[in-house]
Amino acid sequence: MRLPLLIFMFCAAPACAQQGFEELRHEMVKVQIAARGIRDTATLRAMRSVPRHEFVPPELISGAYGDFALPIGSGQTISQPYIVALMTELIDPANAAKVLEVGSGSGYQAAVLAEIVDSVYTIEIVPELASSAAKRLKRLGYENVVVRQGDGYLGWPEHAPFDAILVTAAPDHIPDPLVAQLNDGGVMVIPVGSAGSIQSLTVVRKEDGKVVTESKLPVRFVPLTRER
Ligand code: SAH
Repeated sequence: MRLPLLIFMFCAAPACAQQGFEELRHEMVKVQIAARGIRDTATLRAMRSVPRHEFVPPELISGAYGDFALPIGSGQTISQPYIVALMTELIDPANAAKVLEVGSGSGYQAAVLAEIVDSVYTIEIVPELASSAAKRLKRLGYENVVVRQGDGYLGWPEHAPFDAILVTAAPDHIPDPLVAQLNDGGVMVIPVGSAGSIQSLTVVRKEDGKVVTESKLPVRFVPLTRER
């Protein structure tokens, strides 16, 4: 048997494929994330652990570790790895126990958070995405994530207050219910701006009841839609 065929046969085995993905993931963290200034060790570790290829449609798996967002169906996208890492670092996850995510999408960002914090509550407005994200996270063993279908603009009052809130769809203003559900000393990261334009990734901090906002960088997210 010729060598290339032999290698191909070995690498078609699941263990070999997993190792290939792990190498791609380490390269992704080195080149796209650490090299661009992400320093938080918990974030880097989580980005090295979560199998991103499990969160993209099978036909796009070869691009799972690429430096870009990818479509995940229903007109939605999984964010670029760097943006996931940046948003994770911005909430200082090692000091957060309970986190709310708005916009579950594929469930990838929720999995990254679940590697670090105690519990993740994530809300997705598109029913098909909410149910596929919940199934995927369960299959991958993320037991500290709860997915719910609904309008995340309203937050999840039953589980509030949250130490951190991460919003991965863009509203044109900061939703009051989310500010209200943020713990004192808590932080929210949210893209703010009108649909179809460049938005501003904004950090909202609540300290002694006062709310301070800071614009971080221009980003482009899908719009936050509302349930009628
Ligand atoms: N965090 C996701 C990517 C999110 S894309 C991931 O890691 O894959 C943004 C998601 O927000 C989309 O799935 C979209 O359907 C959802 N969304 C938009 N408006 C929403 C709302 N009001 N409440 C909850 N989810 C919303």
